[in-house]
Amino acid sequence: MPPTNEKTKEDVRKFVEMVAEKQGWHLHPDKEFLDMLIEGLMTNFNRFGYFGCPCRLLEGDREKDKDLLCPCDYCKPDQEEFGHCYCGLYLTEEFFKTGKMPDGIPERRPIERW
Ligand code: SF4
Repeated sequence: MPPTNEKTKEDVRKFVEMVAEKQGWHLHPDKEFLDMLIEGLMTNFNRFGYFGCPCRLLEGDREKDKDLLCPCDYCKPDQEEFGHCYCGLYLTEEFFKTGKMPDGIPERRPIERW
């Protein structure tokens, strides 16, 4: 069900900045790419009522998508293995310091949940 409290890009930017600060993470260093991820999160929130992952297909059902609520269940394991989440939104401090750009990584979500 669409929410009554629609979010703007600025709202979402504040949300991801707050999450990153609280967790000690960094956001994607490319401003345009970051903007695209923020827009995707905003679109998902305004369509479904929750911050569903911006680079995965959502069911539109909070219960079915609950592992994909950002930051998703796969964020930390992906950060531990690759230094950033699947979308590249959240980077570890260590990865950020390398100056590398997040790259494509394998999908950790079990295939039966796709
Ligand atoms: S992959 Fe990154 S952007 Fe996507 S839901 Fe997980 S933490 Fe959020």
